[in-house]
Amino acid sequence: MQPFRVPISIPDTQRVTLTQPFGPVSNPLEPEGPNGEPHFHYGIDLVCGDDHHTYGVAIVCPFPSITITEKTWEGAMNPTGNGIVGVYTDAEGVVHKIVLWHCSKINDAIEYKEGDVMAYIGNAGLVFPAPSLRDPYAGAHLHLGYYRGDILTDPLTAFDITNPYRGPAPTQALEMPPAQWVVAKIEAFMAPFLPQATPPAQPNQPTP
Ligand SMILES: [Zn+2]
Repeated sequence: MQPFRVPISIPDTQRVTLTQPFGPVSNPLEPEGPNGEPHFHYGIDLVCGDDHHTYGVAIVCPFPSITITEKTWEGAMNPTGNGIVGVYTDAEGVVHKIVLWHCSKINDAIEYKEGDVMAYIGNAGLVFPAPSLRDPYAGAHLHLGYYRGDILTDPLTAFDITNPYRGPAPTQALEMPPAQWVVAKIEAFMAPFLPQATPPAQPNQPTP
């Protein structure tokens, strides 16, 4: 099988770098693995230069076509942040599923063709280093998970990270800082000063 191109679009001058491989890792932020490994990375993490250059980079369709089956806009405090899941069935009937996490923006369509922009890289969710007011783009990366015929597989066996798509660089300087986690931080800061909601009266629980 010919490897697919990595689903990232960047200028000719940039390249894609792997920052965390697939499989068992020592990183305590990663959850338990499918076979009881203490920490397991269910995909690969990719950046394009530093995190500031990576924030807002376009995520494109790496297959002849894709159908988006899930979109999650979970907020900055969810581990996976914002993500999309999409599937492509090849000529031999093999289903290729990709899982993309930490997006800063997700486009509306459900069907895409190769090279179409589906979403943008961000730092929503559990990323390290965590973004701060001083460095709002910190931790931006693409988490790419891959299932080949429903089997969790190392994305490096299917995607060539030396062969990204080519397009314009993101323009963070023209954008507002990533807003989602800023809102979450302000809410957390304000919480002690806001009137506490009165908990609803507990109905009498029937005894089992
Ligand atoms: Zn990851």
